[in-house]
Amino acid sequence: MKIVCIGRNYVDHAKELNNPVPAKPVFFMKPDSALVIRNRPFFYPDFSNDVHHEIEIVIKINRLGRSIEEKFASRYFAEIALGVDFTARDLQAECKKNGLPWEIAKGFDYSAPISEFIPIEELGDIHDLPFHLDINGTTVQQGTTKDQIFSYEKVIAYVSQFMTLKTGDLIYTGTPAGVGPVKIGDRLEGYIGERKMLDFLVK
Ligand code: MG
Repeated sequence: MKIVCIGRNYVDHAKELNNPVPAKPVFFMKPDSALVIRNRPFFYPDFSNDVHHEIEIVIKINRLGRSIEEKFASRYFAEIALGVDFTARDLQAECKKNGLPWEIAKGFDYSAPISEFIPIEELGDIHDLPFHLDINGTTVQQGTTKDQIFSYEKVIAYVSQFMTLKTGDLIYTGTPAGVGPVKIGDRLEGYIGERKMLDFLVK
């Protein structure tokens, strides 16, 4: 399976990093080795001093498709999870400055914690789904999928023009404003609505 991550999909987050609001989705990938399941700890990497949290809604592709039309894209996923796109912001800044790919800043081990998946029927309006991240009991990021620049369907249509989407592939759909550093000892708790989805430690 592969993990596709959408960058700059919320206007307020694009602005906080001084990035332009994109006209087309921006995406990159993480390897499956980045996943962390069942609230296991995030082990802080020794090659970065500035790892940031990015809380994101994640969809799971449930059938094979390529060049999927936007109007049919909703048929390609049926479950949603909450994930964190951990980013080594210092390495990413270096990559950006030099015009290099982002993989070392985005795809490292433990960089993709993921919650359990919930069937979308249980979630109400998935196009206006509130979610937030607390660190040590304080809310640091909150958003709603209503503010996505590119909807799930647009993202699926766009990505599948370039690469076939397969059953089990994950799409991290971007983060709202409020990204910031984590440190060893922090406790991260992520929610969709009032439902706690993530609860893990930084070690
Ligand atoms: Mg992200």
